[in-house]
Amino acid sequence: MSKRYASGISFFLLLVAWPTLTHTSYHHVYPPRVQVEVKAGSLEMTPSSAGSSAVVRSHRIRRGDSLSRILTGWGLSPETIEKFARSCRKVFNLRELRKGRLLRGSFDLATDSLLAFEYSIDDQRLLVVARDGDGFSARVESSLLERRIQRFDAVIDSSLYKAAMEAKVPTHLVLQMMEIYSAVLDFNSDLRPGDSFSMLAEVFFDRGNPVKTGHIIAAKISAGGEVHRAYRFQSSYYDESGNPLRRSLMRKPLARYRRISSRFLRSRRHPVTGRRRPHNGIDISARSGTPIYAAGDGKVEFVGRKGGFGRTIKISHGAVYNTLYAHLRRFASGLRKGKLVRQGDVIGYVGQSGLSTAPHLHYEIIKYGRSVDPLRADLPTSAPLASKDRKPFGELVATLAAQLDRVPLLFAIASPFCDKQ
Ligand SMILES: [Zn+2]
Repeated sequence: MSKRYASGISFFLLLVAWPTLTHTSYHHVYPPRVQVEVKAGSLEMTPSSAGSSAVVRSHRIRRGDSLSRILTGWGLSPETIEKFARSCRKVFNLRELRKGRLLRGSFDLATDSLLAFEYSIDDQRLLVVARDGDGFSARVESSLLERRIQRFDAVIDSSLYKAAMEAKVPTHLVLQMMEIYSAVLDFNSDLRPGDSFSMLAEVFFDRGNPVKTGHIIAAKISAGGEVHRAYRFQSSYYDESGNPLRRSLMRKPLARYRRISSRFLRSRRHPVTGRRRPHNGIDISARSGTPIYAAGDGKVEFVGRKGGFGRTIKISHGAVYNTLYAHLRRFASGLRKGKLVRQGDVIGYVGQSGLSTAPHLHYEIIKYGRSVDPLRADLPTSAPLASKDRKPFGELVATLAAQLDRVPLLFAIASPFCDKQ
């Protein structure tokens, strides 16, 4: 988590340090190594040919993959795979393949034999296996990722999610966008066909190949005739005037849900026990397994089973507020009492443990020990911009707004007038 925030800050410093040198054009405003690529990018690689004598095959690790199965699929014999595995034994454990990371093999076009192999272990390390006579030799190299800013655009047809998938916007960025706007927009009800969004986001490349996405640095959603903009500044998101987009606590700490199935009531009949009791929170109906966010920055106070609540988490957000999350299917790994969490961290997953008839999240906001209605309570906003930050923020907005508002290149290419320019 801290690493994630640190990278955002260093990027911001690059951006704001540069405009003080020159204000002439876009190319000068950005540091030279940060490129803005205007295209609806896909992170999936297609096999490409490396020179005329070799062909490159690539594979992104999925759950349950094993290297021997992948290599068998690439046509390697059991004996070759055994030699390959033996060469790696001293430098890397081949069982530790991580979901989502990339494998690449380069093959001799004539003999279809494996010439070289690469696996990006993490953002700093690369496993390189090269043919060595009759066998292979393996080593771990350090790799440095190059960060680029890429633009993604989509027009909403039926749902935001579907539009994003069709425009090949990585899921991670879609969820991030929903989280950024969660206090401003209700993605279940506020979007209409014809609404659209654009975003500028970090994409990390390993020698020309996209390997992962980072933060959204700016976004724009046009919904119902209104435009909502978001700019990332010092790990938080603000509108163009510098107003924070977040509340200190989320009203609905889920990215996706079906509906509010039960509201906050001082007295109601319990659906399972039949007894009349207050309903001290809201029930948010969602698919089992939907990630649950920490509603605000805070400290985990309780993780475990709590009677009819089933698997429950309680977070303390300072002296005034607590939040409670019940009926979870499971907790996020590593979550324990005393752990510090940031707003938006995944703390668990929707389920129906305890007294519950269907998967949902029971969510409470407790103020000075007393439950308040999460949907209506007057929640404080996040800290506003400090006055010393106004000027650098304004410069950042000026730079990014120009990029966000530019007509996407894809559309420009489709225009018949394009050739004449
Ligand atoms: Zn409930």
